[in-house]
Amino acid sequence: MLLPLGMPIVHRCLVPRRCLSSVTSTLYDVVISGGGMVGTAMACALGSHPHLRHKKILLLEAGQRKVLEPLPEKFSNRVSSITPGSATLLASEYRLYSIIFHSSCPPLTTAFLLLPTGFGAWDHICTMRLKPYKRMQVWDACSDALITFDKEGMEDMGYIIENDVITTALTSQLDAMSEHVKVLYRSRAVGYTWPAPYTSEEGSPFVEIQLADGQSLHTRLVIGADGQNSMVRRSAGMKTVQWSYNHVAVVATLQLSEPTENNVAWQRFLPTGPIALLPLSDTWSSLVWSTSPEHASELLKMNDESFIDAVNSAFWSSEHHSDFISSAGSLLRSAVSFLAPSGSSTRQLPPSVSHLGDQSRAAFPLGLGHATEYVRQRVALIGDAAHRVHPLAGQGVNMGFGDVASLVHHLSKAAFDGQDLGSTRHLLEYETERQRQNLPLMATIDLLKRLYNTKQPPIVLLRTLGLQATNALPPLKEQIMEFASK
Ligand SMILES: Cc1cc2nc3c(=O)[nH]c(=O)nc-3n(C[C@H](O)[C@H](O)[C@H](O)COP(=O)(O)OP(=O)(O)OC[C@H]3O[C@@H](n4cnc5c(N)ncnc54)[C@H](O)[C@@H]3O)c2cc1C
Repeated sequence: MLLPLGMPIVHRCLVPRRCLSSVTSTLYDVVISGGGMVGTAMACALGSHPHLRHKKILLLEAGQRKVLEPLPEKFSNRVSSITPGSATLLASEYRLYSIIFHSSCPPLTTAFLLLPTGFGAWDHICTMRLKPYKRMQVWDACSDALITFDKEGMEDMGYIIENDVITTALTSQLDAMSEHVKVLYRSRAVGYTWPAPYTSEEGSPFVEIQLADGQSLHTRLVIGADGQNSMVRRSAGMKTVQWSYNHVAVVATLQLSEPTENNVAWQRFLPTGPIALLPLSDTWSSLVWSTSPEHASELLKMNDESFIDAVNSAFWSSEHHSDFISSAGSLLRSAVSFLAPSGSSTRQLPPSVSHLGDQSRAAFPLGLGHATEYVRQRVALIGDAAHRVHPLAGQGVNMGFGDVASLVHHLSKAAFDGQDLGSTRHLLEYETERQRQNLPLMATIDLLKRLYNTKQPPIVLLRTLGLQATNALPPLKEQIMEFASK
């Protein structure tokens, strides 16, 4: 069925006798439901890809448009650690593609094309603010076993960026493509009507989306980027495996006792959960403290001074040490530094904090969720709608950006080949590619969460030995960094 794009259309049933009414609507090629960091990145990536530029794309966001003009002096308490791989996607990068034409004379013709592959938002982020970090130090509060990660020549290990800065940068990029990507803010999708698997003559072959203001529209493909409680996922009947960690992440913005270079991301595993301090500037850092719901509510209620004391003590106190584990750990450390002197790392001391940013404390319940299917006919899930992880490895939105890059790649191939964008043929390739990447990462994060959530001596001993052995093997550490920085 061929329909002209870019103008309102009238879907008429093909069996006029049974059809008493006709539906006036607008047909889009792609509707992205949810304009968080991942959905907005998807809109940018679709809008800037040469094979998809002529498609009719709509981004629906229930919330308001994010504007940070002027940039507030105060840092937001919601930040993300962005991997170098995601930074490359966020950047506007051009790559040389070769296209081989098959024809009889000459038999093969090759043309070269310079195509953008990123979301084009990095320059906007740089003009606002970001903090690169050069080193990561992770250590166990029960044994002081530690692992450090850094790159040769002090290259950037990653970037701490406020979520609002990322969304604003992507939104500015979208403004530049307003001719072919439409954005509706304060527009909530309240219902989806899916086409039957074998399109009946009476139904629309497209997805119908009902909006809260009573409008409805049609699309060849819905991309669900509507977060962990995705309505797209639930409405399409896509199942999820999920559990709560019975953990809450307390976040806050903290001022350091004294200015430092502040280019290290710190994480200490306490038996109650990990606490991380991520650099924002020479004087400010961002806290993510995962703990029990009871402890989290105490942390939220206590006065600023007690909160600061609690944070400093969580990084410095030795109350969880066991003499036996510490001796076994230091024995292994001595053996390692004797056998592989280059494999031991210098322990750095984390900075202490002195002030709490105004009203910067907040809490978020934590859990794991994974959609068993990412795609069906005319629907694909990306970001937290498809997978939700514990923030201890700082991977959630990075996985979402990976989904965007993969889905755009498969959609652009489909568009180039003149295929229907909503067909499962290429959507399934996206699902396979992403599940292969996401599942091992999710399993590792879940295992780490469980391994470090106990004080039982055999497990503490095992993880102490494991962490120190890994720290002593630079090739293994490089592989971990490679795996986590995509
Ligand atoms: C404490 C904490 C720390 C974290 N730290 C990191 C980190 O360091 N690094 C990292 O990679 N990840 C981190 N994460 C994870 C990261 O925040 C998430 O993975 C990311 O925000 C998911 O983005 P999203 O766009 O998929 O979903 P969301 O941010 O949930 O966005 C969904 C959007 O959809 C909209 N929406 C919902 N329903 C509808 C509807 N019916 N119609 C229209 N719009 C709708 C919402 O308004 C929202 O804007 C952290 C998470 C937490 C809780």
